[in-house]
Amino acid sequence: MTKYLAKIGLEMHCEMSETNTKVFSAARNEYSESPNTNVRPLDMGFPGTLPVVNKEAVRLALMASMILNCSQPEYMYFERKNYYYPDMPKNFQITQETKPIPVGIYGKVEFECGDEIKTVRVNNIHLEEDAASLDHFFSTSNIDYNRAGVPLLELVTEPDIHSAKEAVAFLEHMRSVYQYAGISEADSKKGQIRCDVNISLMDAEKDESNPENWGTRTEIKNVNSFGGVRDAINYEIERQTEVLESGGEVEQETRRWDEESGTTKRMRSKADAIDYKYFVEPNIPKFKISKEWLEEIRKSIPELAMDRKNKYINEYGLSSYDAGVLVKEKAISDYYEECVKTGIDAKMAANWVSVNIIGELNKENISIDEFYITPVMLKQIIDGINGGLLSSKQAKEVFFKAIEEEKEPKNFISKDNAQISDKDELTRIISEILNNNPTQIEQYKGGRDNLFDYFVGQVMKNTRGKANPVITKEILHEELDKR
Ligand code: ADP
Ligand code: MG
Repeated sequence: MTKYLAKIGLEMHCEMSETNTKVFSAARNEYSESPNTNVRPLDMGFPGTLPVVNKEAVRLALMASMILNCSQPEYMYFERKNYYYPDMPKNFQITQETKPIPVGIYGKVEFECGDEIKTVRVNNIHLEEDAASLDHFFSTSNIDYNRAGVPLLELVTEPDIHSAKEAVAFLEHMRSVYQYAGISEADSKKGQIRCDVNISLMDAEKDESNPENWGTRTEIKNVNSFGGVRDAINYEIERQTEVLESGGEVEQETRRWDEESGTTKRMRSKADAIDYKYFVEPNIPKFKISKEWLEEIRKSIPELAMDRKNKYINEYGLSSYDAGVLVKEKAISDYYEECVKTGIDAKMAANWVSVNIIGELNKENISIDEFYITPVMLKQIIDGINGGLLSSKQAKEVFFKAIEEEKEPKNFISKDNAQISDKDELTRIISEILNNNPTQIEQYKGGRDNLFDYFVGQVMKNTRGKANPVITKEILHEELDKR
C-alpha cells in the first residue's frame, strides 16, 4: 500500500465588512438590513452606470497584502470575469487575476497549528466584488442585492497544507488577521468567509517540492464553515485514497460539499470548465500606487494577535497558553486590555477573563459585547477581594448574582459579609471555642487528628462562614500546640 501525502491549496474569500461603502458604488456596505435597501443602480447592472473604486477597500486590501508578506503592484488594474447568473446582473464580476498584478503576489503566512509553527506560501491576494445573495424556496427564489458589490478579498495559497487540522488552523489565523487589522469581522456565521478547497494526493516518498510529483486535484467549491472545510477535506482524502488504492485515477473535477450527507458531489469535470473570457475592465483606468501611500499603509498596520500574545507573555507574565486563549478573538483581547487599564492585576484579570468570563460566554452562547459585566464592574469585584471584603468563593457568587440580576457587583459587596482576616479577632474566637471543648482537645491530643476539622467547623459556624480559612487553620494549629 502506498502511503499518500495530501496537498491542499485554499482559495479563501473574505468579505471586507469594515468599509463604509461598496467596492465600486456608493451604496452602504451593510447587507444584514432589509433586503434590497443598500443598492445603487450600478449594483443592479443598469446600463450607463460606471464603477468608482473605493479607496478604503484598496487601502485595506494592500494592508492585507503586506501582512501576508506579498509584493504590492506599482499600478492597479481590474478585470472582467464574464458569466451569466441571476445573482450577477452586470453579467460580469469585476475582479483581478494574476495578470496584471493584483493587490499582492508571492507571500507567505506563518501560523500556529497545535504546538507547531507552519508556513504556507501565498500565490496571490486580490480584490473583487461579491455577488447578490439568492435564497431558494420550493417554487420561488428571492434575491437580495444588498450583498452585490460588497468588497471581497480572495486569498489563493500554494498547496502547502497537508491536513484538515492544518487547513482549519490556517483559516483561524487568517480570520484573526482580518479582525485585528480592522479589515473584516470575518464572521463565518454571517457568511463572510467562504472557501474553495483544492486537494490531491501524492506518493509520500516523493519530493513534494517538485510539482511533477503532485497528484491530480479536485476542487471543492464554496464551503462556508470551518467545520465544513475540515469534514470536506477528510472525506475527500478518504475518497481519493479509495480511488487510487483500487487502481483508478482521480479525475480533475469540480465538486461541491453537501453538508447534509457529509460528502462531496461532482459538479463538472475540467473539460467542462467555464471560459470566463477575462479582459481588463475598461471603465477603471489603471492607477498608480505610490511608494508614499504604501509606506503610510505599512506604518498604520495595527497590532496583530501575535504581537499582543508576545506582549502578554513578556510584559504581563502570562503563560503562552493563557495568552493564546486571550488573543484568539479580538473583542475578548480588547476586553482584557480594558480590564488591565482599569488597574486590575494583569494575571488576575487573565484568570477571570479566561475562566469565568469566557466560560459564561460559551455557556450562554453570547459575544463579549452582549455580556453584562464590564471591565469597570469586574474591577469592583477584584477590589472586593483585595480589600478583604470577599473570599474567592464569595467573589464568584457576587459575579454570578450581578449577571443574574443585572445589577452592578458593588451592590452585593458590603462590610457586613466581609471576610474576617484579623488575627487578633480570630485568636479571640478560637480561644473561646477551645475553652468550651476540653474533651475534644484531649481526644485530639490522643491522636484523633480528624478533630482538627471539627474545630475549623466550629470557627466557621461561629463566624457564619466569614473566617478566613487559611488564617483560621494557622491560628488553630498554634493555639492547639499551646494546650
Ligand atoms: P486554476 O487556474 O485552475 O484556478 P490554480 O493553479 O490557480 O488553478 O490553483 C488554484 C488552487 O489550486 C490554488 O490554491 C493551488 O494551490 C491549488 N492547487 C494547484 N495544484 C494543486 C494540486 N495538485 N493539489 C492541490 N491543490 C492544488
Ligand atoms: Mg475569484
